[in-house]
Amino acid sequence: MAYADVAQEQREQRRRQRFATKSMHMTQKYLRRMRDLGSTLEQMEPFFDTLERIYVQGLDVERPRSTKTVGTYCVQVPQELIYAAGARPVKLCSGHYTAFSIGDDVVARDACPLVKAIAGFEHMGTLPLYENCSLMVVPITCDCKKRIAGLLKEKWPVHPLYVPANREDEDIEHYVDDLYQLMHMVSHVTGQDVTYESLANALNLTGRAQYELSRFLRIKRTTPNLLYGTHAMAVMNASSYLDAGVWASAMGALNDELERRAHANKLVSRKDLPRIMLTGSPIVFPNLKIPLLIEEAGGMVVADETCMGERGMSDPVVPVDASFDGLMRSLAIRSLRPCPCPTFADNSQRIYRLRQMVRDYRVEGVIYHVLRGCLVYDYEFRLVEEELESMGIPVIRLESDYTDQDVEQLRIRSEAFVETIKLKKGPLKANRG
Ligand code: SF4
Ligand code: SF4
Repeated sequence: MAYADVAQEQREQRRRQRFATKSMHMTQKYLRRMRDLGSTLEQMEPFFDTLERIYVQGLDVERPRSTKTVGTYCVQVPQELIYAAGARPVKLCSGHYTAFSIGDDVVARDACPLVKAIAGFEHMGTLPLYENCSLMVVPITCDCKKRIAGLLKEKWPVHPLYVPANREDEDIEHYVDDLYQLMHMVSHVTGQDVTYESLANALNLTGRAQYELSRFLRIKRTTPNLLYGTHAMAVMNASSYLDAGVWASAMGALNDELERRAHANKLVSRKDLPRIMLTGSPIVFPNLKIPLLIEEAGGMVVADETCMGERGMSDPVVPVDASFDGLMRSLAIRSLRPCPCPTFADNSQRIYRLRQMVRDYRVEGVIYHVLRGCLVYDYEFRLVEEELESMGIPVIRLESDYTDQDVEQLRIRSEAFVETIKLKKGPLKANRG
């Protein structure tokens, strides 16, 4: 190799090393802030360890050596199909500021930061989580996802899933066709056919995770303030990098402990703190600044209607019939019909779900999060604002980017919002229970 090439290669290596070190520090900072909120439970450690393993230690997901990983984006990819073909799904939507700063120079200026962060990791090639994937499955939910599918294709095999704008029967039919193609693609990668039995087993596996999630949500609804919303969001985010069965077992242990604490009335804060719901653009670890700011300001994030939270897993698969095709159809239906992502033309479902969550969690204020460049959520804001105002629920729109530079401005607005709700509620009581 010529001297100039060697020097260039060494420069690149140093750049990658600097990137890896900065990424690690950024993740450590958010893990620390999360712990500094206090009241973390021993049963949360498996989730925090997982986030640390991936983004601080730079390790891949834990799995048998021969198991391949398939990168997925968005909530419309049925994880069951990937498990059924003998692979491990890993969710790769990213919340990383360091990767964002690289991606900012790689993709269009007005692309959303989530996609810029994906592009940053793709470009640097330092994270095993991405590098080791054998296939990427990208639902085309918005322009940003369409563009990132094109970029990822330069490095990995990519299967785009064409998410329809509507959810009529014929749209579902097309999606079923797409899922059959996806099934063949994953089988080709793993060398394992999807059978009725393997698909049924995969449904049981994710069903366990859904069961524990529904338990978790019920506990949160019935006994408020058992844990901070920021911690709940981290627990949900960790599901992206854990086998569904392992996540379900860890959730089971956390739920048992939360039930014990509910029984003993052991809360992490006073009951009467302002109860806030977060909705809007995705909140992906380590970008937890919005929930952290709300809870550091004395509010409680009691509900999280974002795609990395409750929405990602809460809708169960209801088999339309007991045939193989029936299972495939139920996966397509579950991926589209109940999905409140704003990618669909008719979003009345989203409004219905928001109304229901406001009632279920006795929400007193809503923070509508918009990632800069995320047009689909920005468009929706007016509609959501009108609806919430008709219910007497105050709402603010917080726009943010993957940087710490907007933190102070976001802090001021979060604090003011929390204060407004406190004033509306009257004086807070001094006790905890
Ligand atoms: S909100 Fe929906 S469409 Fe947007 S990134 Fe999340 S899953 Fe994808
Ligand atoms: S829905 Fe918003 S956050 Fe998600 S990829 Fe599209 S533009 Fe980005």
